[in-house]
Amino acid sequence: MPTSPDTLDTPVADAQPPEQDTLYALPDSPEPTYSSVARHIEDTLLGLLDDLTLPERHRPQAEAMRLRLQNGLNWYELIPILDDLATLMLAITDSGQHEFEVYLQQLNERLETFQSNLQAASDGHADNSSAARAMDSQIREQVDGLQTSMQEAADLEDLKQVLENHLEGLLGTMDQHQKQRDAREQEVAARLKGLSERVAHMEQEAQGFREHLEVQRQKALIDPLTGLPNRAAWSERLEHEIKQWQQHGNTLSLAMLDLDHFKRINDNYGHLAGDKVLKIIATVLRKRLRGSDFIARFGGEEFVLLLPATPPAVGAKLLETLRAAIEACPFHFKGERVTITISMGLASFKPGEHSDLVLKRADQALYRAKNAGRNRVELG
Ligand code: GH3
Ligand code: MG
Ligand code: MG
Repeated sequence: MPTSPDTLDTPVADAQPPEQDTLYALPDSPEPTYSSVARHIEDTLLGLLDDLTLPERHRPQAEAMRLRLQNGLNWYELIPILDDLATLMLAITDSGQHEFEVYLQQLNERLETFQSNLQAASDGHADNSSAARAMDSQIREQVDGLQTSMQEAADLEDLKQVLENHLEGLLGTMDQHQKQRDAREQEVAARLKGLSERVAHMEQEAQGFREHLEVQRQKALIDPLTGLPNRAAWSERLEHEIKQWQQHGNTLSLAMLDLDHFKRINDNYGHLAGDKVLKIIATVLRKRLRGSDFIARFGGEEFVLLLPATPPAVGAKLLETLRAAIEACPFHFKGERVTITISMGLASFKPGEHSDLVLKRADQALYRAKNAGRNRVELG
């Protein structure tokens, strides 16, 4: 492997097709030294910390990060601080959840108001029936009055007059009640229309809120460099797969993967090249996994795999194909082939075993792979 970029200008031995050539070409643009961008990174991160609205309990954590930033960083301190910042961002998403709960509480109160409005509308309806009863008794009174007046009428002319007066009275009463009823009905209909519009609006608002929360949640679960699920996503999935495994009893296997001598890639070709390698390797690994497998970026240059329903021998075979695929990636720098390799440790869940222990066994197997010369798979 070349040791300095200046010596990397010999033509590549095994020529690649043109599109592969650019895909695996490590960028050779001169990368600024860390010290020249450190001030800017620190200021940006400090600015970001200032802008975060943090729940009370996370403030000491942010304060500690601020101190670390103010004391100055080097490359290797930058990555853990970005991880911590990501954790802090997740905490804010959690408080987004809290905001949503508060919103639901408000929604509930608004629905209660709605219910009491509905009660008022139904009382309006009851008013209507009492108005009908009032009209009924008014009409009865008028008919009674008519009977008395008819008995008291002296002649036909008198009787005609009495009848006309009373009929006019009756029609007037009915007319008046009809008008009152129409007005009340219109009022109730308008009130109901208003209420249903408000409910539709609230439903729309709640839906928007839910969608926004889901988008935020998904973002918080993805590693921005590689596009792979991050450690938070890993924890969620691990919990899920353990439940499945406990229900179905198939062998659940887990693997830890770590790129070999990755520090040298950064040292020899710069961090931009290192980042490009990480992105490509993430894609190569993901492409070769089965649908039910799960991969996450565990941190730095480390990945973790969950292999449901996979006995150790099958898992080891799969890991071997992944290892070989990484080794075969035709990376090159200024025309010279750069071989990247990866070491892996595999462990399968034993009945009743805690996932921390399985992870530890996989990590120990990875450690053995490193000690045995790297670029290999070991079983734990
Ligand atoms: P080993 O074979 O023992 O694993 O050696 P190594 O050099 O890979 O291991 P070490 O843990 O010493 O160094 C890991 C390096 O990975 C340190 C850091 O420079 C690099 N690294 C971690 N995360 C990133 C990243 O996001 N981008 C880049 N470019 N480099 C990273
Ligand atoms: Mg490592
Ligand atoms: Mg490594």
